[in-house]
Amino acid sequence: MSDLPTLDTHIDIRWPNPPDPMAETTMRVDFPKMRKGGLRAAVFVAYLPQGKRDAEGHAAAAERAEAMLAHIRSRADGKARRFCATAAELAALYETDAANGPLGVLSAVENGYAMGRDLSAPARWKAQGACYLTLTHNGHNEIADSAIPRAELGDGPSEHNGLSTFGREAIGALNQAGVMVDISHVAKPAMLQAAELSRSPVLATHACCRALCDHPRNLDDEQLDALRQVGGLVQSTAVMSFLNTTSPTGR
Ligand SMILES: [Zn+2]
Repeated sequence: MSDLPTLDTHIDIRWPNPPDPMAETTMRVDFPKMRKGGLRAAVFVAYLPQGKRDAEGHAAAAERAEAMLAHIRSRADGKARRFCATAAELAALYETDAANGPLGVLSAVENGYAMGRDLSAPARWKAQGACYLTLTHNGHNEIADSAIPRAELGDGPSEHNGLSTFGREAIGALNQAGVMVDISHVAKPAMLQAAELSRSPVLATHACCRALCDHPRNLDDEQLDALRQVGGLVQSTAVMSFLNTTSPTGR
């Protein structure tokens, strides 16, 4: 077994009624598959579907995000599966024996829709162990424009010309709380603005290269240069639609 410090940075969990990840499931990732495949650690994600951008919709999304983060953390028993809330905890995990040591469980939130207009949310998510927020999903939200607007939800091509005023404050709150800024799914102007504004390097946890596959949320050369300039990171997704233009759009 390799002792490479392997990490999958974006795995959506099913919700509601997530399958038991301790058993071999029909999902692409579960703990037995991680062990067999040599995947030492994974970020499991509280993904929030885009809904109505009103107080009720935002409150429901916030409640669901916190329930999902609690569920993800509860899958770690501290022995065979160790929850890692910090870079130091993850680094310590990689020091353990690759074949028999614990698997790393990390958590994150996908879609700033769950934040609504609540600047206190990042600190609460950090207290639950979340390591990043993906600023948007498909569809604009209070924080930023999405690379894929949702016309059926009333989206035009651009709503904020990148980040909104609130979105700039949200990035400050994420920096303050120690929650990383994930720019996967974010429209190019918003991505470039976030890279410049964030006090800690931004990352794309699941995106690919626009020059190789012209998907609206893959990163072009200017974006990749911007990421390099701020010490950011791209983790490629293996979902076919981001690698091959003939595949249907995926998450
Ligand atoms: Zn996604």
